[in-house]
Amino acid sequence: MDGKIAQRLRAIVGEDNYLDSVEDLINYSYDASVDEALPEAVVLPETTEEIAEIMKLANSAGIPVTPRGAGTNLSGGTIPHKGGIVIALTRMKKILELSKENRYAIVEAGLTNLELQNEAHKLGLFYPPDPASWAVSTMGGNVGENAGGPRGVKYGVTRDWILGLKIVLADGRIINTGGITAKNVTGVDMTSLFCGSEGLLGIVSEITVKLLPIPPFRQSIQAFFPRIDGASGTVTRIIGSGIVPVALELMDSVVINMVEDSKKIGLPRNVQGVLLIMVDGPESECRRQSSMIEEICIDQGASHVDVAGTADEEEALWVARRAAFGVMSQKLPNCILEDVTVPVSRLPEMIKGIIKIGETYDLTIGVLAHAGDGNTHPMIVTDKRDTDEWERVEKAVSDIFHLAVDLGGTLSGEHGIGLSKKPFMHLIYNEHEFQLLRELKQILDPKGILNPGKITD
Ligand SMILES: Cc1cc2nc3c(=O)[nH]c(=O)nc-3n(C[C@H](O)[C@H](O)[C@H](O)COP(=O)(O)OP(=O)(O)OC[C@H]3O[C@@H](n4cnc5c(N)ncnc54)[C@H](O)[C@@H]3O)c2cc1C
Repeated sequence: MDGKIAQRLRAIVGEDNYLDSVEDLINYSYDASVDEALPEAVVLPETTEEIAEIMKLANSAGIPVTPRGAGTNLSGGTIPHKGGIVIALTRMKKILELSKENRYAIVEAGLTNLELQNEAHKLGLFYPPDPASWAVSTMGGNVGENAGGPRGVKYGVTRDWILGLKIVLADGRIINTGGITAKNVTGVDMTSLFCGSEGLLGIVSEITVKLLPIPPFRQSIQAFFPRIDGASGTVTRIIGSGIVPVALELMDSVVINMVEDSKKIGLPRNVQGVLLIMVDGPESECRRQSSMIEEICIDQGASHVDVAGTADEEEALWVARRAAFGVMSQKLPNCILEDVTVPVSRLPEMIKGIIKIGETYDLTIGVLAHAGDGNTHPMIVTDKRDTDEWERVEKAVSDIFHLAVDLGGTLSGEHGIGLSKKPFMHLIYNEHEFQLLRELKQILDPKGILNPGKITD
């Protein structure tokens, strides 16, 4: 980093919040994907105005800037591919407003999802988007990726819950989108434009979100299926029956066995699939839906169905699901967690297809799915240093993307494009659509300094 620029950055954020030792830079060179690249400097601002000053400086000097929350994204979105400055938002953690009457919160971008949940709970409220990474992932990162989570089947994803944003543009201008009202159609929906834009169009410093009252009752159901078709077919039937579950998660036998190896919680090893289903609402309605779900599961060939009667029993049912990614990623040095989404009715074909792709390339692929959304997470456990296997992994990933698109699906349900899916954008975007994306980027960031090397480059 040029000495004068470094000095000015230090003056903006303070000496302690400017990092450029190799040891520090390494901490910001990777995320939860497999790529890595070193930035030249990391700054940790505390206010929107500091971000604006950093951006004015970077813009006039043409220095790349990569915004970063907790770095848990799985697509290489925070890899500082072209060097430059990483702006880490993790010091900006304030809850600026939490209104029970109007059911909204205004938070700074570095607050974790769970920190917001904990505060909202004290008022009997909750924030519906619940990425499995919620204990560490930031609200800014959730907006950057338009994150979802198990509750997405009923409650949708981040985009559905944001009322407004404060954003610093590439040249340092500060703008506000949306507002605090439940309804707002004043002009073009700029909030949605920035949600899911992966740090390419601006840096989000504050987020206004809607909150909901905590439902009076909820119940979880776990069903084991000797055949994977029974499990995936059950998903289609439940969604088609008119029930709107909160969560409808699927794990295949690879995941079940790896979780059991590690956790020893008594999961049956001889089943091909398990479903975890949650409903919420008034108690009588939950119980009615639970029995309908139980019937569908049995009709689809479930060998065993558990309906949780107490909060502790429910907690026990979710242990395996929560442990799944951690367990899979400990098996070998790399775990590629993919994220394709298909219409729910095509889920059985998608899951069978993934299993076949694993066999074709002789790879261990476990399937985890937010099945009620048609969002599958094939997890390939591998070692990137094994070049022969890595070639097969790349082919398998490409086949998975092609299959999803052939089934009417898409490249990403929640993890974004980043570096890892950029080569496949042509499967979804035609030339005109892609050009429009580039033009939008050009308007908002004419020098191309914000998170360069991703999606539009
Ligand atoms: C174990 C595990 C489980 C996960 N489970 C889920 C899940 O259930 N659902 C899901 O959707 N994802 C999940 N993820 C992926 C990831 O946690 C989410 O995408 C999360 O939203 C990223 O938040 P973050 O703070 O880590 O953001 P980062 O990874 O730091 O950043 C994500 C993207 O947003 C941009 N960005 C970050 N902050 C800002 C900002 N303030 N302004 C503008 N752009 C910004 C970055 O440049 C990057 O492109 C999981 C990841 C892991 C490791």
